[in-house]
Amino acid sequence: MIQSQRLLTAALMILSLLAMSAQAATVSVSNYPLFLLSQAVTEGAPSAKQILDPSEVGHHGSISPGDIKAIQDSKFVVWFGAPLEHNLATSLDKAPNAISLYAFDAFSRLPLRDVKGQPIKGTLDPHIWLDPENAKAITRALAVIHSHANPKYKKLYHANVQKFAQRMDRAVVQVQQQKKQKLLPYWAYHDAYQYLESATQLQFAGSLSIDEDTAPKASQLRWLNEQRPSKTMCIVTQSEPAKGLLAKLQPVNSTVQSEDMSASKDFVSGWSSMAQQIRRCIS
Ligand SMILES: [Zn+2]
Repeated sequence: MIQSQRLLTAALMILSLLAMSAQAATVSVSNYPLFLLSQAVTEGAPSAKQILDPSEVGHHGSISPGDIKAIQDSKFVVWFGAPLEHNLATSLDKAPNAISLYAFDAFSRLPLRDVKGQPIKGTLDPHIWLDPENAKAITRALAVIHSHANPKYKKLYHANVQKFAQRMDRAVVQVQQQKKQKLLPYWAYHDAYQYLESATQLQFAGSLSIDEDTAPKASQLRWLNEQRPSKTMCIVTQSEPAKGLLAKLQPVNSTVQSEDMSASKDFVSGWSSMAQQIRRCIS
């Protein structure tokens, strides 16, 4: 972490020299979960600008001429990186003021898993913000970035980061206080919740499809039914699942949890309700 922070600082100093625009130092962030984390850091100071709308994270969304101007006018643009935000890659891969979080070795990373839950070598599951430790590390990185853009708020940013870490830790403790005897097995429509599992005792029992827009194969539905670890299962989806689909997986409960937390106004409370609702769906 120390080394990667030093790296981040060095990268920022170079970027500051390159950034020619002398106007107000705007920091832009790519998408909604990152915006929520940035909000936690800048509370009490001007907030970052958000490029993609909620629900545009990763799998969807496109970039408008206005977005391109916002990118050019920003001192720094913070994004996760191409594995998540394909739609931003053309604009940001080579932008001199862009900072990709995936490029820093500061977060815990997990590989993608296939529909049967087997890790796929050499891949990155992009949903890193759902891990509470990663969320805290992201706020620390954002505080460094915001401080370079607006040094006069440096103290405030760092105090906010500490406050965030305390709230996040409390949220995790709260979930863990309702400890169940064993792991809670669940299905996902697409495997988006892996980073929640260790803090919340969830156990992945397979996904329906490789992504949210691809219909599940009959063979996969059969496999899930054969393997079901408990009689009544819970399936976590990004949007309301079709009744016909649920009929093929009975008995099953379902809960809609959007991976980008677009239903929440605050990261920690959004994370908590996501964790609680999934656990409730299972038990
Ligand atoms: Zn996803």
